[in-house]
Amino acid sequence: MNDFSDPTKIIKLTTPHDPENGALNTPIYMTSTFSQPDLDHFHEFDYARSGNPTRQAGEKALAQLEGAEYGYLFSTGMAAISSVLLTFSAGDHLVISGHVYGGTYRVLNEILTRFNISHSYADFCDPDAVEAAIKPNTKALYIETPSNPTLDVTDIAAISKIAKAHHLISIADNTFMSPYLQKPLSLGADIVVHSATKFLSGHSDLLAGAVMTNDPELAKQIYFVQNAVGATLSSFDTWLLLRGLKTLAVRLDRSSASALKLASWLENQPQVVRVLYPGLPSHPGYEIQQKQAKNGGAVFSFDIGSEAAVRTFVAALKIPIFSVSLGATETIVSYPPKMSHAELSAADLKKEGITPGLLRVSVGLEDVDDLIADFKQALQQIK
Ligand SMILES: *Cc1c(COP(=O)(O)O)cnc(C)c1O
Repeated sequence: MNDFSDPTKIIKLTTPHDPENGALNTPIYMTSTFSQPDLDHFHEFDYARSGNPTRQAGEKALAQLEGAEYGYLFSTGMAAISSVLLTFSAGDHLVISGHVYGGTYRVLNEILTRFNISHSYADFCDPDAVEAAIKPNTKALYIETPSNPTLDVTDIAAISKIAKAHHLISIADNTFMSPYLQKPLSLGADIVVHSATKFLSGHSDLLAGAVMTNDPELAKQIYFVQNAVGATLSSFDTWLLLRGLKTLAVRLDRSSASALKLASWLENQPQVVRVLYPGLPSHPGYEIQQKQAKNGGAVFSFDIGSEAAVRTFVAALKIPIFSVSLGATETIVSYPPKMSHAELSAADLKKEGITPGLLRVSVGLEDVDDLIADFKQALQQIK
């Protein structure tokens, strides 16, 4: 499988040929339990929380695509991330990016602290700052790159190297890139987590999460939590995920090319204060992004100066969906100060660079020239 490039691999992996009947798509095994031959002989599967052939097909496909030996599917991205975090114990400490996904922050801040698992923040754009935040009880460094919504880029290889030098685990949330654009394990990370709700499934029709690793000991711990806590992905949703995954490469080729064109165009518009897209040379993380990822991805943010301008612009847009989430066939425009980052105070929003005029765009599969024309007419409405 390693001889093939990713687009070929993706098609091969998502079409594993059911050994029973040769069906191209993995059958949906709707069963909670599996009958066993006798007292002394047991099949591979016994109870569906512990394992199901459909889920296993999805886990194998995603693991191979990410370059991992082991993969696990969960009911949501947060179930996947929380399950990884539940492998830590009372007294452990994690260093995390200040720009970590809001749900991850909520679990770390409001649940894990109750179990005496603590964390500190560091600027993950600065490897020295991350190293300085390591304490004697630190067990892991938690990376998310590019970050939401300012698209800050973390040097995965540099942070993983620091983790190795201090005998820590490095965890990378790869949701914004997907394994088609970026493979953190190949850059030295120990564990990759995903919200498969986004680009991996790609059609805004399911929630799913994934965890991948090459380390057999970590894999054992993750599987233990998956089976014990039980936030597993259903067969039906795994089937949908595999169906979405088939087009990952074509979707991302199209969406990231359109994102580059739209972001470059926006950079030259008089109403636009700044564009944050790691695929543009003006972005401070551009060099690292070029080095560690295939391109800048399908998500960018841009600032049009004020909340009043945002109100006018969003009301005038005709093509994009105004909503939370990303990685869909439709272009999605969201307003982080009132959506993903609504819990932050005005002071914290300012500190994080989430300015009142900031909009995030996840570029879909529409004709990019139609998108540019729509953004143009909406910008022209701003007084
Ligand atoms: C959406 C998202 C999550 C959470 O995933 P869910 O599937 O919504 O639970 C985690 N990390 C990132 C970067 C996300 O965008």
